[in-house]
Amino acid sequence: MLALLKRLLPGSMKIRARRYFMRGDQVRCPLCGQGAIAFLPAGTPPRAHALCPFCGSLERGRMMWLHLQRREMLRPGVRVLHIAPEKGLGRRIAAMPGVVYTAGDKHEPGYRYPAGTIDLDITAMPFPEGAFDLVICSHVLEHVPDDRQAMRELRRVLAPDGVGLVLVPQDLECAATFEDPTVTDPRERLRLFGQFDHVRLYGRDLVERLQAEGLRVETLYPGAVSSAEERFRMGLRAEEPLYEVRR
Ligand SMILES: [Zn+2]
Repeated sequence: MLALLKRLLPGSMKIRARRYFMRGDQVRCPLCGQGAIAFLPAGTPPRAHALCPFCGSLERGRMMWLHLQRREMLRPGVRVLHIAPEKGLGRRIAAMPGVVYTAGDKHEPGYRYPAGTIDLDITAMPFPEGAFDLVICSHVLEHVPDDRQAMRELRRVLAPDGVGLVLVPQDLECAATFEDPTVTDPRERLRLFGQFDHVRLYGRDLVERLQAEGLRVETLYPGAVSSAEERFRMGLRAEEPLYEVRR
């Protein structure tokens, strides 16, 4: 019966039905504020407890939002560049009073981007030096062949007292980043780097790579600032580091 219903319902009604059945009090998404019985699995291979059934946010978007809130980074007048913007997170940031919000992503055919997202090459950004007080760059660098040039650009567009927030998929078991520019087959990239359009898998040396391009780096772990119970309730991963970078 349920399978038949699933097949017959149009997509929008499926989402509504899922939201109805997922409503609850066991977890609460810090981004959209909705309570749910659980977060849903997401990713390849699927991670349990990852996706908010209401706003579609993942662990990293929720962690980013909590970090921005806790550090009170979204003050009036702050100029924010959000690279490859997550829709829910972008909406919350842009709605903060007085925040000057710019979103940019490399436009690829067949993809849809949140409204107002400009076409942006992160290795050659059309902004003057020191144009932003806050740059959010989450799960971007692993797609960029010349990530060192992207890091230099990140440094260039940061204001003297500006902060960049960098997140990447990372194998913390490995000291060295694994990359091979000759691997271009999407299936090989998936196998070696974890996703069909990733060009490397970062190791612990990401920090040195950022430092080599003139950035000062501070490593933060959600596990250090929240209890296991809090992380469960908000659907955060303890082991995923967030890097604050400064020029
Ligand atoms: Zn949510």
